[in-house]
Amino acid sequence: MDSVTVRAPAKINLFLGVGPVRDDGFHPLDTIYQAISLYDDVTVTEADAWSVHVEAIGGVDVSEVPRDEHNIVVHAGLLLTAHHGIDRCARIEVAKAIPVAGGMAGGSADAAATLVALDRLWDLRTTDEDLLALAARLGSDVPFALVGGTARGTGRGEIVDAVTDAGSWWWLVVPNAEGLSTPAVYRAFDDLPQPDSLDPAEVLAALEHGDLITLADALRNDLEPAALALRPDLRTTRTLLEETGVMRVLLSGSGPTLLGLSGTHELALRLRERLLDDGYQAWVAHGPVAGAHEVSYA
Ligand code: ATP
Repeated sequence: MDSVTVRAPAKINLFLGVGPVRDDGFHPLDTIYQAISLYDDVTVTEADAWSVHVEAIGGVDVSEVPRDEHNIVVHAGLLLTAHHGIDRCARIEVAKAIPVAGGMAGGSADAAATLVALDRLWDLRTTDEDLLALAARLGSDVPFALVGGTARGTGRGEIVDAVTDAGSWWWLVVPNAEGLSTPAVYRAFDDLPQPDSLDPAEVLAALEHGDLITLADALRNDLEPAALALRPDLRTTRTLLEETGVMRVLLSGSGPTLLGLSGTHELALRLRERLLDDGYQAWVAHGPVAGAHEVSYA
């Protein structure tokens, strides 16, 4: 096998409950992840040294994505080879459609895709349990990018359990030209009054019954006040998105990407046209979709 391509999805958080910062600097999370149909593709090819190549898909700004060992895909490669005690390298090509620093865990998706792609390329047969453990070491959102679907994340978000989701949900995804640093959003969160600790029972019930109206009402993101404090300009986009007539507007993860929950695909497409006319970038995506999976058998 000369090369392997693995596709990994962006994530959104239908519920992001954040607790007060722990002694180790992390915040305890109770979150409901959903993988949506916006993907990065990672292609790996055996090589004499590690190298990273990034291609922008659909107008994504990739100027801030590292092309060296700072890219999380190289961390993933080094972790996997160390785990198996092998000394091999690969050329890693990332075709990036997930907005960078957009709160959709694009880097985590790439890391998960790299683990799976290298495992296949070298026929390492890493167990699912070991892949999940390596993923958790790479970042809190990486295990979910492996698993996909709709799942509850606890701990730092790295403990992932699948949940029942009877729906297929349509999202308007509105990225922002300027990224937001996740650590900066958490620091702003620490300076604000802490939210009540709520559990995601309502979101879980809405998903189980495929109930759009209850879901729209129950969506929650505790990082939203912090992200809006850092980026007041997001309020304008938020209001505009609300006025299109979506069921509910939600910040994606730590932002700045905004999401609109739409009742139907047709409506989402129509609303997207309106946003494009107003000069915004917007995509239509659905969820849940599969986690990191192989798409070519070259
Ligand atoms: P999260 O919500 O998990 O913080 P995010 O979607 O907000 O993720 P990412 O797109 O994952 O943010 O990237 C955050 C930063 O990580 C980027 O600004 C970039 O400098 C660095 N980075 C390292 N590797 C990658 C990669 N493969 N893709 C994107 N960014 C990467």
